[in-house]
Amino acid sequence: MPQIQCLPSHVADLIAAGEVVERPASVAKELLENAIDAGATAIVVELERGGLTYLRITDNGCGIAPEELPTAFLRHATSKLRTADDLAAIGTLGFRGEALAAISAVSRIDVFTRRKGADSGAVLHLEGGVPGEVTETGCPEGTTICVRDLFYNTPARMKFMKKDSAEGAAVSGIVQHLALSHPDISFKMIRDGAEVLHTPGDGKLLSAIYAAMGRDFAMGLLPVKGCGGEVEVQGFVTKPLHGHGTRARQVFFVNGRFVKSQLLQAALEEAYRNRLLKGKFPGCVVHITLPKDMVDVNVHPAKTVVKFVSDKAVFDAFYYTVRDALDGENKPEAPAPRQESFYQTMTAQQFKEKTAPAPEVKKPLGSYTARPAAPMKPAIPAKPAALAFHDVAPQKDQPFTATVPDRSGREMTYHITPPAAVEEKPAQTAVELPAEPAPVAEPVQQQLEAQAAPWRMVGEVLRTYIICEDEADNVWLIDKHAAHERIRFDALKADDHPLMSQMLLAPLTVTLAAEEAAAVLENLETLHRFGFVCEDFGDGTVLVREVPADIRTGDAASTLEELAQKLLLGRIDPEGVRDELYHTMACKSAIKAGMVSNEKELAALVGKVQSGEIKYCPHGRPVAVKLSKYEVEKMFKRA
Ligand code: ADP
Ligand code: MG
Repeated sequence: MPQIQCLPSHVADLIAAGEVVERPASVAKELLENAIDAGATAIVVELERGGLTYLRITDNGCGIAPEELPTAFLRHATSKLRTADDLAAIGTLGFRGEALAAISAVSRIDVFTRRKGADSGAVLHLEGGVPGEVTETGCPEGTTICVRDLFYNTPARMKFMKKDSAEGAAVSGIVQHLALSHPDISFKMIRDGAEVLHTPGDGKLLSAIYAAMGRDFAMGLLPVKGCGGEVEVQGFVTKPLHGHGTRARQVFFVNGRFVKSQLLQAALEEAYRNRLLKGKFPGCVVHITLPKDMVDVNVHPAKTVVKFVSDKAVFDAFYYTVRDALDGENKPEAPAPRQESFYQTMTAQQFKEKTAPAPEVKKPLGSYTARPAAPMKPAIPAKPAALAFHDVAPQKDQPFTATVPDRSGREMTYHITPPAAVEEKPAQTAVELPAEPAPVAEPVQQQLEAQAAPWRMVGEVLRTYIICEDEADNVWLIDKHAAHERIRFDALKADDHPLMSQMLLAPLTVTLAAEEAAAVLENLETLHRFGFVCEDFGDGTVLVREVPADIRTGDAASTLEELAQKLLLGRIDPEGVRDELYHTMACKSAIKAGMVSNEKELAALVGKVQSGEIKYCPHGRPVAVKLSKYEVEKMFKRA
């Protein structure tokens, strides 16, 4: 056995570095968190070759005093923690005092820094963790750290690196998450010379989402805000019609930290149950805030796992907040009441009155009209304003240039444009976003008149779509089958009693696949609840004696077959099967497209849609389409 020896410190550092510095993205994360901890309001990230050859982060934070600069790169050197007690109350992102030491151990670093208000700054070059001399220099207030040739002295680690594009994408992911958790900080990322992300830092989450995740995603979102006990939930979720093909756009933050959580994912998707098309997933950017003692942060700081003390409290708070927001979506906009008969039966006089130009009507207090969606302006400020740097470069916007020799005597030239601070950004660069709908107090007058229907049914076309208009001059097309199906579905779910059944004069024989027949016979009781009374007739044939009262007898066999298929699937997912069975029953018992319906039936459907009670059929298809007067006029080029 060889002798036991203490490792030389640089070897120990290399090992420790492996824990913190896995890849360029982990370097970016540590440096960005330092910039945030330093109080920066604007941060620029620049990288080349996925961050392996060049990764530079410039902030306008507090800077580091020249005499403290070498200390910052020592292991366990931190300004954020003094005593063990501090550890419990930690508010900053980094606190172990390891990152700079670990990163510098496996790269070449140049750091420029200047304290706020200081006359000059300082620059330091380090190679493999060994610092050179600190020299005085002019530079912008804040800190620029440039990490070059990552893993140049640890070829083994280098081998684990993925393609540049994958490493660059991982850095983008880190920047995106930090931008979304700090909407008050402007983040800019420049990858191989091209700007790929720039958030305005105006403090609005939606602005950050728009800039970091794109216009389409941002426009398809709905605000959510709520709490359950001490768990607060705030952010944005996908509108049901804007479901995504994958879960990639589900972004959760817990107490400001990006986390991956199956619990939160499950709560989100449960809230969308029966509102999304099959195979579609909701997206979200949501911040969950809860007391520090309700969440276990004692996990590896580089990992994104999180453990809640009470899973149920978090699940419920999140689930109900999202569900309430989805329920409240798209309520008709405070129309005044009006009730007229179905199928236009106006007299000539009424017609004349109706077609006379409308007098100016004052909106009742508290009503709000739909604004045509204003096109959003890009979130990117037209031109970033520069910070002042008194002694060095008096003019704004002037980049700072410095040349730093490395140990082999090669010179590295830097051009640093100070990141734009928020307060210096021109006001008009703020993103214009649709106002979050504020809860509007219903005017008393409206409450009183609520009994009379505030809409008029015009008629039905294609034996499928009901046309109606409301008092806010919106034109509605309502899919009668989808609307009725939803109503049936909700009623079935709400009602605990078995469905009424009708006995058939002559029992029906339904021949099914052997597996399906077996599923039917295993679930006779469930089927009875849905109004079917069946018996085994041998050889995959089932004898049906009673069928649900509200489905057509002619549909009984196909309904049973569909139920059997779903029961089969239920062997895999017993939870989901109940809703699936309800779907079938709702669909089969609903008014069908193409069928003749009477006025009362249709009016009842319109009433439900207009009250905002139903919006999507159980499969997530829309029940109604609303065209504002503005949209109609636009079609005719009047607006
Ligand atoms: P930690 O963040 O855990 O304290 P680091 O090794 O990341 O440890 O940083 C060491 C110290 O260097 C920090 O505590 C902080 O005082 C200082 N520092 C690092 N980066 C910056 C920065 N961008 N601006 C100001 N100070 C910084
Ligand atoms: Mg740190």
